[in-house]
Amino acid sequence: MSLDKLIAKYRVSKPEKFRLKDFDPADADGLDELEEQADELLAKGVEALAELQDVLYAQDRWSVLLIFQAMDAAGKDGTIKHVLSGVNPQGVQVFSFKAPSAEELDHDFLWRTNRCLPERGRIGIFNRSYYEETLVVRVHPELLAKQRMPEKLVGKNIWEERFEDINAFERYLSRNGTLILKFFLNVSKKEQKKRFLSRLEEPEKNWKFSLADAQERGYWKEYQKAYDEMIRATSTEHAPWHVIPADNKWFTRLIVAETVVKAMKGLKLAYPKVSGEKLKQLEAAREALESE
Ligand code: ATP
Ligand code: MG
Repeated sequence: MSLDKLIAKYRVSKPEKFRLKDFDPADADGLDELEEQADELLAKGVEALAELQDVLYAQDRWSVLLIFQAMDAAGKDGTIKHVLSGVNPQGVQVFSFKAPSAEELDHDFLWRTNRCLPERGRIGIFNRSYYEETLVVRVHPELLAKQRMPEKLVGKNIWEERFEDINAFERYLSRNGTLILKFFLNVSKKEQKKRFLSRLEEPEKNWKFSLADAQERGYWKEYQKAYDEMIRATSTEHAPWHVIPADNKWFTRLIVAETVVKAMKGLKLAYPKVSGEKLKQLEAAREALESE
């Protein structure tokens, strides 16, 4: 299968038919030949991304927002690190969203992410995002109770309302020139166990292990259900979800890189053209330098 087809395979383009269980976290089986070329292909993707980012920055019109969601140990951090490894650090902004602070809880649920949106010409990365408001908060209703919302506004439709507000917000951003791509790194429960165990067994990985993550594992089913509904409700033309198999790290990274490259190419970015007065100034500057 070509890379193009693979990318399309993981994009949720018919949300009404979406079922998370139809997506295999260990997919990439049978793609042995791809694995052999994985390093080379990823390096090419990373290079292409770096070039596109350079034009994005120079043109200063579009911005790109990449949103990453996943269960713990699915590889968000490693994917972000690898995919963006070639990009000029000045052109990228990474934000990680953890449990909200008291100040953040004192505002509407989009407030804290809103302040971190990428400027024109930049790539912004959300390592977790406002989607947690329909995931962890849904799985643990006591978190919702802490949000200080007026009681009569917290009804049984609260999740649908949040989906609706998120869709409207993302449409608004896209109409203002933000390219939005969303990635769910789909790791299996079995692979998560393996990765947790290696965090316990290997001293240099110990720091990554958190008891809280292990406890969240106990809510696996509830999370899968929340992800399933969330992806179905918020996959849109202007801000599509991609459900990326995450049991094989090389495959995750490759598909994410290719997806971003393809979408950015679709923007038909171009360096600003210099003409008229500015061109004359450049010519004069060149002459001045040469006659020094
Ligand atoms: P890593 O564990 O790889 O360092 P992480 O993204 O899991 O990265 P943590 O320090 O574990 O980072 O904290 C993230 C935690 O914060 C997650 O359990 C997540 O569900 C929680 N969180 C994020 N956003 C919210 C939110 N809006 N409300 C409540 N909890 C949230
Ligand atoms: Mg964690």
